[in-house]
Amino acid sequence: MIEAQNLDKFYGPFHALKDVSITVGRGEKMVICGPSGSGKSTLIRCFNGLEWHNSGRLTVDGIEVFEGAAEIRTLRQEVGMVFQQFNLFPHLTVLENLTIGPMKVRGLTRAQAEETARTYLDRVHIPEQANKYPAQLSGGQQQRVAIARSLCMETRVMLFDEPTSALDPEMINEVLDVMVELAGTGMTMVVVTHEMGFARKVADTMVFMEAGRIVEVSPPDTFFTNPSSERCRLFLDQIL
Ligand code: ATP
Ligand code: MG
Repeated sequence: MIEAQNLDKFYGPFHALKDVSITVGRGEKMVICGPSGSGKSTLIRCFNGLEWHNSGRLTVDGIEVFEGAAEIRTLRQEVGMVFQQFNLFPHLTVLENLTIGPMKVRGLTRAQAEETARTYLDRVHIPEQANKYPAQLSGGQQQRVAIARSLCMETRVMLFDEPTSALDPEMINEVLDVMVELAGTGMTMVVVTHEMGFARKVADTMVFMEAGRIVEVSPPDTFFTNPSSERCRLFLDQIL
């Protein structure tokens, strides 16, 4: 589904991704962790063309990703992203936040888009919030709207960039529970998070990054009990 080969990425002189190679299979759940500044966001933002790699090769669902590629619009229709800060439109209601993309990008009528929106609001367990504005919702509810919004686009892959790290502790689980349910539907998911309970539940593959490199790729059993790299072990000691 996602194939990255020897990616390098620079921000000016700063070398943010160093020779990164990774494969995400269809339906796979990958959890990426690592210290701040290690390149986690940069990597997944390359996966949907929010950032561009400078060298190496990246294909997502058969689309070759590079700056200026003609198929980038298609790519963005195939790959959804959920951000730490929700990024909802504050001046639109929940329902309007969910229908605007499908109407503009997928050409659905309002009635079709609203039907889809209500399906996915049910899926994230907040059907009763459809007519509120984002500011009238809790952080956990806003993030579930953001997940529903991404689901409305019916993408093949969903990327999550620390979706719970801006939430108050009591709201983290309501969002993680929705993500666990989503994992059960067979969605391909790449999740940057330090929520290791979630990772143990859903991850097929754990990835540890440090200083722009992928240092460890292993199944959760190995990752949590016997990581091959000392740096990964130290990191896990700090956060577990
Ligand atoms: P965090 O856990 O804090 O979110 P991260 O692993 O997601 O960190 P990135 O956001 O990918 O890290 O950033 C990797 C490095 O690239 C950091 O040193 C960061 O300062 C730098 N960087 C990120 N975005 C830019 C940018 N737009 N311009 C310049 N440098 C950037
Ligand atoms: Mg980040």
